[in-house]
Amino acid sequence: MQMETILNLPIENKIFYAVLVFSWTVYLWEAYLAYRQRRIYRLTMHVPHELGKIMDTDTFEKSRLYQLDKSNFSFWSGLYSETEGTLILLFGGIPFVWKVAGTVTARFGLGPEYEIFQSLSFLILATLFSAFTGLPWSIYNTFVIEEKHGFNQQTLGFFLKDAVKKFIVTQCILLPVTSLLLYIIKIGGDFFFIYAWLFTLGVSLVLVTIYADYIAPLFDKFTPLPEGELKEEIESMSKSISFPLTKVYVVEGSKRSSHSNAYFYGFFKNKRIVLFDTLLEDYSPLNKDGEPETDTPTEDKSKLKNKKQGCNNPEVLAVLGHELGHWKLGHTVKNIVISQMNSFLCFFLFAVLIGRKELFVAFGFYNSQPTLIGLMIIFQFIFSPYNEVLSFCLTVLSRRFEFQADSFARGMGRASELYSALIKLNKDNLGFPVADWLFSMWHYSHPPLLERLRALGSTKQD
Ligand SMILES: [Zn+2]
Repeated sequence: MQMETILNLPIENKIFYAVLVFSWTVYLWEAYLAYRQRRIYRLTMHVPHELGKIMDTDTFEKSRLYQLDKSNFSFWSGLYSETEGTLILLFGGIPFVWKVAGTVTARFGLGPEYEIFQSLSFLILATLFSAFTGLPWSIYNTFVIEEKHGFNQQTLGFFLKDAVKKFIVTQCILLPVTSLLLYIIKIGGDFFFIYAWLFTLGVSLVLVTIYADYIAPLFDKFTPLPEGELKEEIESMSKSISFPLTKVYVVEGSKRSSHSNAYFYGFFKNKRIVLFDTLLEDYSPLNKDGEPETDTPTEDKSKLKNKKQGCNNPEVLAVLGHELGHWKLGHTVKNIVISQMNSFLCFFLFAVLIGRKELFVAFGFYNSQPTLIGLMIIFQFIFSPYNEVLSFCLTVLSRRFEFQADSFARGMGRASELYSALIKLNKDNLGFPVADWLFSMWHYSHPPLLERLRALGSTKQD
């Protein structure tokens, strides 16, 4: 196409092609970054000198092969989803599914005047479609890649049951929330964006409140951490920084995967801590396979074997020191404020744009402007450049927060335990310690291991 022909295109065509071109630009940029990172995996065959003391050749090679497999997988799955998205747009997939949804609701005697019902059946069809096209990829990822590298703990039956449960739970939340949102937009008048924003804010608060107690237990088993040394120490550490801890749970993450983690949640004076069993040396089922464990004090135990998964108690406390640092330094609140400001801004811009018919025409809606489709077009396609910039800024911010939380743990006198915990966790999760600077700048929500260890080791930064 020549420049002039592009300029003479109707505005709706320009919008459509701009969305496609932008999407492919982001795709190619990320493919380029992934290529740079893959080259690092391929060419870094030996443990870098600086890491000699903290990583053995065997683990290094294992993590190299694991990351290489993961990277190849994400190349193909990324190419697939970009192509699929493009074909859907080019062949009018969205108006097609909208029409099918209309036929379905008409079967129930609900004509086009019941836009909400058509929207709901559109949502169900669209989520079913994405569940089915995504399933083979996630099966391959779990049962070929994770399995090959020893992380997968699921059977196919468990996996499928889990997927069905997840789908049903998602629908139970998505459908009522969307209908209410559409209703609010419809009756809200000139300031509907304020009500819509308040509504989504309320929904997210409710979800955060009920998620841990009512939703997460549908998928995983949470058991209170038994009384004992670890629990006492966690309690006294929480007290020392006035963290209002009410409960400590261990979650059976090992049923899915042997990757390890820890987090906290809850409002105001009711905070709980969740530890993955894979994080805890004494709980990780992987450690129970080999020789039976005796109840010797932790210090002796950690020296006995180095094949074990997980951290000893002082290391777990250091990891928690880092997590609680996020709370004490207000990172959690800051993240909520940022995301709510963003959500308000997006609803405001949505209100400005929703009346523009050309946006609908651009995506094949010539005669009608359904609100749900408007939400989709504007939030997903029109905002995509803004979303990219925002997500980059949030990644940069997240890395800053990680350094600050590390430094908080160091302030609690737990630097050396955190140092060794980070090394162990990196080893257990087969993290690769070398990263391309551009790739890590764009993607890493956590700073590369080596940078964190350096910052922990130095006394300058505080
Ligand atoms: Zn963190």
